[in-house]
Amino acid sequence: MPAAAPSTREDCLELDRRDPLARFREEFVLPEGVVYLDGNSLGARPKGASERAAQVIEQEWGEGLIRSWNTADWFTLPARLGEMVGRYLGGSSGTAVVTDTTSINLFKAASAALRIVEERSPGRRVIVTQRENFPSDIYMMEGLAEQLGQGYEVRLVEDEDLVSRPESVIDESVALVLLTHVNYRTGRLFEMKALTEVIHAAGAMALWDLCHSAGALPIDLEAANADMAVGCTYKYLNGGPGSPAFIWVAERHQDAFAQPLSGWWGHKEPFAMTPHYEPASGIRRYLTGTQGIISMSVAELGLTLAARADIEEVRAKSLALTDLFIELVRTRLADHPLTLVTPLEHEHRGSQVSIAHPEGFAVMSALIARGFIGDYREPEILRFGFTPLYTSYADVWDTVEALRDILDNRLWDKDEFKTRGAVT
Ligand SMILES: *Cc1c(COP(=O)(O)O)cnc(C)c1O
Repeated sequence: MPAAAPSTREDCLELDRRDPLARFREEFVLPEGVVYLDGNSLGARPKGASERAAQVIEQEWGEGLIRSWNTADWFTLPARLGEMVGRYLGGSSGTAVVTDTTSINLFKAASAALRIVEERSPGRRVIVTQRENFPSDIYMMEGLAEQLGQGYEVRLVEDEDLVSRPESVIDESVALVLLTHVNYRTGRLFEMKALTEVIHAAGAMALWDLCHSAGALPIDLEAANADMAVGCTYKYLNGGPGSPAFIWVAERHQDAFAQPLSGWWGHKEPFAMTPHYEPASGIRRYLTGTQGIISMSVAELGLTLAARADIEEVRAKSLALTDLFIELVRTRLADHPLTLVTPLEHEHRGSQVSIAHPEGFAVMSALIARGFIGDYREPEILRFGFTPLYTSYADVWDTVEALRDILDNRLWDKDEFKTRGAVT
C-alpha cells in the first residue's frame, strides 16, 4: 500500500497532474462519459486507427491492388511487427512474428516444442498447464495431445502448487510446461524466471502465454531464458478487436522449430510453388497462411504507442492504480460483502483487480449501465483492468464512488441487470 492513500478526489487529480504517462491519454479515443476498465480484454482505440484503416482500404487495396503486397510491404508486415514485439519483450532481432491468433500460435509452439523435447529426451508425454488457465490454452493442449496420440496427456496443476512447490508438479515425465504469465481471472502474476528455471531443471520446455502481461509490465524473455512465448495484441497492446497475435521463439530453437500447420507462408520459397514443404530458415517458418492485412496494419498503432512508453513507468503506475483501487474499496466499501481475489503483493499482481461479490453479474451490469466498463467472470468476479496509458487516478476514484452508490442503494437489484448476453 502507498504510505498515504489519497482520501479525496482532489488528491487523485493531483496524482494525475504529476503522472509522467498522462500525455498518452490523448493518444486514445474513448467515448464521452465512459471510464474504461476493460483494456485487459479489449484495449481502447488509438487515435489514427480509422485513418490507417481507410488508407489501407482506399489507397493500398483500392489503388495499389495486388501490387501492394510489394509496394505497401504487406508481405513483410508479420515480420516487421514481430520485430517490434520481439524487442519490446526482451528478445533479440528476428525472434518473433505477428500472425494468427493466440490459440493457433499455442498449437504451433507446443507442437514444435514437443518435437524438440522428443529428440532430446524421448518418451516424455506430459504437458503441464494451470487448471485456472484461460480455457483456450487448455483446450488447445487437449486437442494437440489427442492428435498426437502415443500417450500424450495434459496435466492440470493448481496455482498454489506452482507458487509454493513447483518441483512437485513439474517432474521428469514432463515434456512441456505452458504457463500463462498473469491469470485472466484472478490477476495473479507468476514468476517467469524462477519457474522457467524449475522447468528446465526437470528437462522440460517452457512456453509462456503473455496475453495478460504484454504491454502491462516489463518482460524480458531472454533474461528469463524462456523457450517460446505467445500472446495477443488486442488487450494491453491496443491492437484492435481480433488483431493478430504474436509468437516468439528463442534463437536457440529457431532452426529446430517444426510445426504441423506448414502452410505456404512458412515455406522457404513460397512463390516457387513446389509440391513439397520446406520450412524457411528463421522466423518466417512460424507463419502459416495469408494474413488479415487491414487488422494487422491497424495493430501497428497500438504497438507503436507501447514501444514509446517507458515500461517501468507503466508498471509503476499500474501498481499505483491497482493499489489505490484496492485501498478505496477496502476503506469506502467496507460494509459490503466484497472479497479481494487478486494478490496484494506487488510481485504477484498483474494490472487488474478482481473482486468477488455474491451478485457480481448484476453489480457489474449496473456499473456498465453508468459508463464504468469492467467485466464479469464466473464465479461472482468483478474484473477491473487498469491500462496505465489511458486510465487516470480520478477514474479510479469515480469508479469506486459509482460502485459505492450501486451497493449502498442496491441499484443492481433489477431484472434488467440480471440478464446475460452472448458475451460477458
Ligand atoms: C485472451 C486470451 C486468449 C485468447 O486467445 P484467442 O486465440 O485470441 O481467442 C488466450 N489465452 C489467454 C491466456 C488469454 O488471456
